[in-house]
Amino acid sequence: MIFKNLIRKKRDGLGLTREELEFFARGLTDASIPAEQVAAFAMAVFYRSMEPAETGALTAAMAASGLRLRWDELRDRGPVIDKHSTGGVGDKVSFLLAPIAAACGCFVPMISGRGLGHTGGTLDKLDAVPGYRSLPAVEDFRRVVSSVGCAIIGQTDELAPADRRLYAIRDVTATVESVPLITASILSKKIAAGLDALVMDIKTGSGAFMETLADARALARSIIGVAATTGLRTHALVTDMSQTLGWTVGNALEIAEAVEFLNGGARESRLEELVLSLVAEMLVMGRLAGDHAQARMLAEAAVRSGEAAQRFERMIAELGGPRDLLTHSARYLPRAPIIEPIFPVREGYVSDVDARAVGNVLVGLGGGRRVAGEVLDLAVGLSEVAPIGAHVGRERPLAMLHARSAEQVRQAADALRAATALSDRAVSPPPIIHEILVAA
Ligand code: URA
Repeated sequence: MIFKNLIRKKRDGLGLTREELEFFARGLTDASIPAEQVAAFAMAVFYRSMEPAETGALTAAMAASGLRLRWDELRDRGPVIDKHSTGGVGDKVSFLLAPIAAACGCFVPMISGRGLGHTGGTLDKLDAVPGYRSLPAVEDFRRVVSSVGCAIIGQTDELAPADRRLYAIRDVTATVESVPLITASILSKKIAAGLDALVMDIKTGSGAFMETLADARALARSIIGVAATTGLRTHALVTDMSQTLGWTVGNALEIAEAVEFLNGGARESRLEELVLSLVAEMLVMGRLAGDHAQARMLAEAAVRSGEAAQRFERMIAELGGPRDLLTHSARYLPRAPIIEPIFPVREGYVSDVDARAVGNVLVGLGGGRRVAGEVLDLAVGLSEVAPIGAHVGRERPLAMLHARSAEQVRQAADALRAATALSDRAVSPPPIIHEILVAA
């Protein structure tokens, strides 16, 4: 096969066969197709899209491009289920969901990524925990999933290497925002991880990759439809990302918020609702609960009893982190030298937030990445972020800023004020869950 001909076909809006897409996945993996041809192909898909059958064939071919994990030894003990989010600002759901689901009987082998641009990355947040190894050997990963019930690690070179190369090229050629390519990218990794089922958290709003509800729904439908053709049962929640999720934005700060949640301390209500809803979906899919109401009760009991907190602490310890993170988190998590309130220019109710700009405040502080590979300041960020509907003024700041220098404070304060609209009238916050989609 000559790859140029496949680029031409896609450029002209024609469909590709399974054999052609398998040829593409092989060429991605062994680098026999050069980056410039991959980039041209990705741009052709960006403009011409793909039929569901093509997306399914590309997904299957990329999933088969490397190692495929099997969890046969866990089959009689519980379902193997993961959650994947399309990313947002302040999203610390994974640190809560994985141990809660594990405490309820799921096995959660969670393979996460690093952050880029305004969205944070789960692995960067885990870097704030001293000693935590987010790239363990596959055997260690399996051991921790089996003994603790959950492990959160980074993508290894062995799983879906075709996607790894394709994603790196899409990232620098403005071709990430393509529904079939996102679908194939996410699902190929999840299929290679050997899951029984998957719950997708597809975010929409000013801080999301899919800003409009219509785009988020289109991605949800594509993922659910293609997953069904590959045998991976998948449900999707379309959820709100029009403001910070929880109270914190920043790597160590988000881990601290998760620790407080698991320890039974204060919880931001939208974060709690989202976590419990996603876990409930996992428990229903995994047949550990008969319906959502029962699943919610199980998830709440796992937090209340402290069982979820214990699972989190064991996961951290088994992967090289401290044994007592939950009791002594302040001893381990880095802290910024300056912690100051940012007050609004006037009193009012928070009526609208540019969540992308809030994520970029973290980038400006050095806690988020402008380009791949950049080293992050794990201590900086925002805490006590005022949600939509909160009354702010002289008594209640927009947020507490954690920074390294006075110049950073000045810039971050200006940016946060500009990102937050105020109203004189009380405002109701948007719902956290817009809808739940399941396969037809
Ligand atoms: N996340 C992925 O893993 N892949 C994409 O293409 C987009 C988001």
